Amino acid sequence: MFVTCHCRKHRIPIHLDPSALPHTVDFCYCLACRQTTGAPFGCYIPVPHPLFPPPANASTLSADPSSAKGAVPYVDLPESIRTYKTSEAGTRYFCVTCGCHLGMDDFQGKAWCVPEQEIQAVDSTYTISWHQYLSETVDGGLTRILPDGLPRWSLEKDDKPFNTPPAAGPLNAQFRTTSTGEDVLTARCRCGGVRARIRRPSAIPSGPGVKERGSSDGRRWMAGHCVCTDCRLVSGCPLSSWIYVGREHLTIEGETLVYYQSSEKAKRGFCSTCGATVTWDGGQPTVDISTPLFERAEGEGVAAVESDWTYLEDELSYASDGRDTVLRGALSTGMKQNAGQGR
Ligand SMILES: [Zn+2]
Ligand SMILES: [Zn+2]
Ligand SMILES: [Zn+2]
Ligand SMILES: [Zn+2]
Repeated sequence: MFVTCHCRKHRIPIHLDPSALPHTVDFCYCLACRQTTGAPFGCYIPVPHPLFPPPANASTLSADPSSAKGAVPYVDLPESIRTYKTSEAGTRYFCVTCGCHLGMDDFQGKAWCVPEQEIQAVDSTYTISWHQYLSETVDGGLTRILPDGLPRWSLEKDDKPFNTPPAAGPLNAQFRTTSTGEDVLTARCRCGGVRARIRRPSAIPSGPGVKERGSSDGRRWMAGHCVCTDCRLVSGCPLSSWIYVGREHLTIEGETLVYYQSSEKAKRGFCSTCGATVTWDGGQPTVDISTPLFERAEGEGVAAVESDWTYLEDELSYASDGRDTVLRGALSTGMKQNAGQGR
């Protein structure tokens, strides 16, 4: 089995204990998972060995996490891998060329995890068994339209069950206005190096993209979820979520923004510091922005902000490319049930 990224610069062998398969894994909705990938959740499988070779002087290195190399004491990182620390003990690894998250080390070098998308035979390798850190979404986020029957936890598994609020209403986003009176939504990656400002379709009612991708109420943009191979291999996550924003309604800035040509017609923008996939740009009147990067005020729900700014397509994009049959089935059902919400 191998870990691969979209640009194929990395093809890293991993060895799992056959007697432990299929592994139980979780979908994690913590802010760090969402903001470093641009995906609605993170999904990692434990691997019992380092992903990268140990350095030549491994025996002389200290495993002390407070030392400069503390979080990665056992590996020599190739230059084509970048690291980003999301907590004292947690370090994430992504490809400098395509931005794909390849692994996470959250036990100070003792265990490694890789995103599920590179595992070849998904159903026999792992089973999605629960959703965790839902408290960080406030209102359940994506799980509101994911009828998979799996346990939902506020933080870690077996800690405290997450009770999904009955409606997004009471937690609804306030329409944002700037000092100039503009109705603006902002999005940003984990490190803040890349930022986007999104205006409603009504800001320029005749602007490009409004007719194709704006709602009839003039307030929202169309949005979708995608499980295509390109999306999976540039984020390192099983699912990507996008809002399609008219070009003239959008400002993207960031000193850490870099682009990767992910297909003949499209380039994707990601943050070279934290690895978050931020944009998909196919040269059309609209540009796609990762909805999980929307900024919220304290206490605002993820699903509430999304329904304030987007109306969701009825069908999962590229469903047949999806590797995880449970996710694919549940999300397709959930999106159909959600169909017609506010066009
Ligand atoms: Zn790559
Ligand atoms: Zn997480
Ligand atoms: Zn960043
Ligand atoms: Zn896609």
